[in-house]
Amino acid sequence: MFPCRDIHTHDKSRTDAIINIYPHESLIVGAYHSVGIHPWHTTDVNISTIEQLNTLAAHPQVIAIGETGIDTLKGATIDKQIEVFCHHVALSEQHQKPLIIHCVKAFNEIIALKKQLYPTMPWIIHGFRGKPQLASQLINQGFYISLGEHFNPQSATIIPTNRLLFETDESTLDIDTIIERIKSSL
Ligand SMILES: [Zn+2]
Repeated sequence: MFPCRDIHTHDKSRTDAIINIYPHESLIVGAYHSVGIHPWHTTDVNISTIEQLNTLAAHPQVIAIGETGIDTLKGATIDKQIEVFCHHVALSEQHQKPLIIHCVKAFNEIIALKKQLYPTMPWIIHGFRGKPQLASQLINQGFYISLGEHFNPQSATIIPTNRLLFETDESTLDIDTIIERIKSSL
């Protein structure tokens, strides 16, 4: 799906990675990026944030939309987070770029939105730490799952390899170490 192995990081010095940026940030020469409004930042979204997001989403260095999503523990109200998330879904479909999703205690909402919106682009749950039952529910609904430093080894065993992705996110470990850890638990 992607030309690099690390599908999500906030560390701007990484290579072989999709470096996540926020709409007000600049692209790094030669890097791959994802761009999105983090659910935690949904309280202060304004028209210029949306315009910056829309412009960056079209850029060829931006190869995924996100991270976006729903976090019931932080950020704006659920309704506001869903509204912002749906804008990212529209950009993902418009530009044919996969969606990177941050989901905390809102899997029912995300699954319901996928059924309702019927996207053609992959929806990737990033930093998945959930149990096998949730993993298999997500797989059955067509989601991709990205694992990082902290993951449930039982869940890792049930994710088909063609739906499994890897990430460093906020970790200080390198992507090789993370991939090795996950693969050795399979
Ligand atoms: Zn992240």
